[in-house]
Amino acid sequence: MAMENIKDFTLPALESWLAAHGEKPFRARQIFQWLYQHRVTEFAQMTSLSKPLRETLAERFHPGNLEAVARAESSDGSTKFAFALSDGRQVETVLMPNLTHYTVCVSTQVGCAMGCDFCATARMGLVRNLSAGEIVQQVVEVSRALTGDMFVRNVVFMGMGEPLHNFDNLTAALAILQEDHGFGLSARRLTVSTSGLVPAIRRYAREGIRANLAVSLNAVDDATRTRLMPVNKRWNIAALLEACREVPAENRYRITFEYVLMEGLTDDLGAADKLVRLLHGFKCKVNLIPYNAYPGSPYRPPSLEHAQAFQRILLDRGVLATIRISKGQDIQAACGQLIRSERAALQAAVG
Ligand code: SAH
Ligand code: SF4
Repeated sequence: MAMENIKDFTLPALESWLAAHGEKPFRARQIFQWLYQHRVTEFAQMTSLSKPLRETLAERFHPGNLEAVARAESSDGSTKFAFALSDGRQVETVLMPNLTHYTVCVSTQVGCAMGCDFCATARMGLVRNLSAGEIVQQVVEVSRALTGDMFVRNVVFMGMGEPLHNFDNLTAALAILQEDHGFGLSARRLTVSTSGLVPAIRRYAREGIRANLAVSLNAVDDATRTRLMPVNKRWNIAALLEACREVPAENRYRITFEYVLMEGLTDDLGAADKLVRLLHGFKCKVNLIPYNAYPGSPYRPPSLEHAQAFQRILLDRGVLATIRISKGQDIQAACGQLIRSERAALQAAVG
């Protein structure tokens, strides 16, 4: 029998497994504490459990450890990790210090199917989904690497992959990270970024998924957005915004619209005006991301002055807007958009 990753289990799922195997369901809470608070790497270390239970767990499950195969520190304090998965594939995770805590940017897929023409990850195509445990374990591993008093408070799902294209594993990972007996992270500190898969946004709204949503708008007209993001052919800007409006207010932790500024393509000041009109009536925030060029990338970022002029138009018209200042570029804290060790912006994205 193939061993399952215990970190793929939400607390209720683990309780059911224990009950079905003649164990006390409350042991699941203890197991969660060992996995996510003490962050042990072996079942033998779970000393509050009986030896037979520890042995049963070790026979049936593996603890989902990931091996860090590379680690690069940036001069701004962010660290990029490359983790090897059990099949030898790799994903990247970025740890970013804020003043009082850390933000972790996690991957949800190996590669991505969405094919955005500006994004380095798109070039890999979709290799596979990460399991819930593989998503969560990125947070466990970087937490384990921390030495000081500061801890991880925010998790952003903005690394490799389209999170809503891996819906079930994403939502299980969100539940595990929020579990009181586990990491206990607040829903307001979790942000899921999507390229705009409309049915999945509707499902996210319908199921009342507890986490902020960030939507990668990136253009104000359909011709430009379709050129950049093939998903726009299927669900255009109007359809996307309509789905965003459906997210009920009580479930809407916060919607952020991400807007990548590409010189001569999306950074026209007229586009800022159009953006104001498009977002009229929305309780939202805009995160302006100067394009991060990589070797062979097709676009360039505008100057900071130009980005600020764009931002000024939004602010003057009452739309909350921040500019993500790139950090971590010296380590290419980047696999396309893991270029997002852009601390300022992430801070802005998660508050
Ligand atoms: N797939 C999801 C989440 C990962 S991409 C999504 O697309 O939202 C996260 C963000 O990085 C998106 O807003 C995307 O538009 C942006 N991005 C991708 N490549 C980039 C680059 N080279 N420079 C700046 N932002 C980029
Ligand atoms: Fe995928 Fe996001 Fe990159 Fe588009 S921007 S290819 S959705 S990771």
